[in-house]
Amino acid sequence: MRQEIPAEKLGPWGPAMAEAVQTCVHCGFCLPTCPTYRDLQQEPDSPRGRILLMKEALEGKLPIVEALTHVDRCLGCLACETACPSGVKYGHLISPFRAHAEAERPRTLMDRLKRRLVFATLPYPGRFRLAMRFGRATRFLRGLVPRPLRPMVDMVPDTLPPPIRLATRYPASGAVKGRVALLAGCAQQVLDPEINAATIRVLNRNGIEVLVPAEQGCCGALAWHVGESERAKRAAIAMMSAMPDDVDAIVTNAAGCGSGMHEYPLLLEGTEHHERARRFAAKVKDISVVLQQFGIETPPAVRPTRVAYHDACHLAHAQGVRSAPRRLLASIPGVELVEIRDGEICCGSAGTYNIDQPAIAERLGRDKAAAVRETECDIAAAGNIGCLVQIRRQLAATGRAVPVEHPVVLLDRAYAGRSLIDGREPGAS
Ligand code: SF4
Ligand code: SF4
Repeated sequence: MRQEIPAEKLGPWGPAMAEAVQTCVHCGFCLPTCPTYRDLQQEPDSPRGRILLMKEALEGKLPIVEALTHVDRCLGCLACETACPSGVKYGHLISPFRAHAEAERPRTLMDRLKRRLVFATLPYPGRFRLAMRFGRATRFLRGLVPRPLRPMVDMVPDTLPPPIRLATRYPASGAVKGRVALLAGCAQQVLDPEINAATIRVLNRNGIEVLVPAEQGCCGALAWHVGESERAKRAAIAMMSAMPDDVDAIVTNAAGCGSGMHEYPLLLEGTEHHERARRFAAKVKDISVVLQQFGIETPPAVRPTRVAYHDACHLAHAQGVRSAPRRLLASIPGVELVEIRDGEICCGSAGTYNIDQPAIAERLGRDKAAAVRETECDIAAAGNIGCLVQIRRQLAATGRAVPVEHPVVLLDRAYAGRSLIDGREPGAS
């Protein structure tokens, strides 16, 4: 395809967008792995269709607003990148395009209110907890809530775990093998604080000191993936300043945040922070990768447990991390690891997708819950808070809830001699 996109006029992301568009040969190999194409069965909601729409919009042949309907339905799961034999970097197109389109995006009052509510609460654990409590207390008023805001009410969980206050330093036990900084995350601290606690215990037990810088805030991934690039840039620059340089890795236990931080060089392209972003991103690693690199003590055997592992898209497709979490789980004696049908397909939780595209998210979530149940597992595992919440909710709706936990929580339970399935002490009823 001849390059007609005026890359030089499109700002710092112009060349990356032009290259992604130019590399696509329209073969269609990506279509079967695209969740929205599978769901809606129409070309404009496939990766190939979206690439064409974005190309035409960038070339000025199509009003941006006409491309946005289909671009907005994209989960950003990047299954298309995994499937693409031509190496199209779809991730280098979709977020920059959304940022580019932001100024022309038509918004209703409700859209603006929804966006405001999300960014005023989600990145701040204290406010997010309050919002969850308020949502729960007023759930009976759901019928009075404007329709576009109802998906937000529906996402409020029935219960919230008690908060866990994190210290800024956790020394390693025994011989020190390394030192890392932990990204504490935003929503995860409220929805499942045990993930950070388990991460710290497992790292310390394996000789790794953990720093949790108090100044860290949101990584900015949420903003970047919906086109709010200025907000995302501010968050990225603040995050790089908050994290220490003299650590072996910046550890994440939430795939969405990890993948967002790996995108800092793209986000900060053309700014004075680009080089620093490149060095920073090279240090960002998922907890499973860090544990594999340092090596872990084999935990004691647990009761035979069938564990189904779900590949979070932002871990598998965006970061190429597939084997490390599986090996981590398989290292627990007594665990039988099983695969989930259509494992490359997104569960429907992608940042604010549940709120922005609730009908598609719901169908994808139901399919994933059905696939998990088919495995007849005792428990499922996933390395991303969004997937955990989505799959738990959908499994609960089937009437036969299967627990779903982060792999590091299962490893922590195994070290403590507790049941992998419910975390109870042996003999506890
Ligand atoms: S598989 Fe790659 S080259 Fe083929 S249509 Fe999809 S994005 Fe384009
Ligand atoms: S990122 Fe996911 S939803 Fe978007 S086009 Fe690619 S496969 Fe489809």
